[in-house]
Amino acid sequence: MAEQGRNAEQERIWAELVATARRTVADGLVVGTSGNVSARVGDLVLVTPSGVPYDRLTPQDITGVDLTGRQVLGTLVPTSELPLHLAVYRTTDARAIVHTHAVHATAVSTLVPELPLVHYMAAALGGPVRVAPYATYGSDELAENMLRALAGRSGCLLQNHGTVTYGAGLDQAYDRTAQLEWMCRLWLTASGVPGLTPTLLTEAQLAEAGERLKGYGQRR
Ligand code: 13P
Ligand code: ZN
Repeated sequence: MAEQGRNAEQERIWAELVATARRTVADGLVVGTSGNVSARVGDLVLVTPSGVPYDRLTPQDITGVDLTGRQVLGTLVPTSELPLHLAVYRTTDARAIVHTHAVHATAVSTLVPELPLVHYMAAALGGPVRVAPYATYGSDELAENMLRALAGRSGCLLQNHGTVTYGAGLDQAYDRTAQLEWMCRLWLTASGVPGLTPTLLTEAQLAEAGERLKGYGQRR
């Protein structure tokens, strides 16, 4: 019975993971098979397979690895960014990770080492969003650079590559990516006006917004 229960949860999270991966394409955050999504279920990490269009993924394609990267579910080759996903799960309380090549975020990653504080929603990612120095996709070096950029944050940019965000679930991880891409678009829009420079928030203003965000939304 315990075995069946565990499988049912894995299947439910896999369906959520595939829906999230499809959403990154539908919402224009990636093109084709770019990007990848993962979710942690106990010591199992479900991941999108490498180079497979998300609309082709079925319940039978469930792909899972353990925290060392050993494949324990499925036969499709796991995402090439396994080092990056596993590094986050090993060092944080993340339950889900979304990696995209969102265009405004990737553009910002080529311009600055940190996204300027144009909006208080940076507080939803833990503070000013850093850019991890470039390294080849799928490499341990990229995972290491990303971990440094993620310190105290739930998201970062990867220089000349894209975004990484994590959360307590797939919805939160996805929403953080969408907010990050939106903030990058905002900064590019404001900083692109000739002759004018956008005002920026102070760390104190951001901290205040961060405190308030803890009570944001409906009472639970
Ligand atoms: P995968 O198809 O192997 O997940 O790679 C896509 C990607 O974004 C690599 O950085
Ligand atoms: Zn990528």
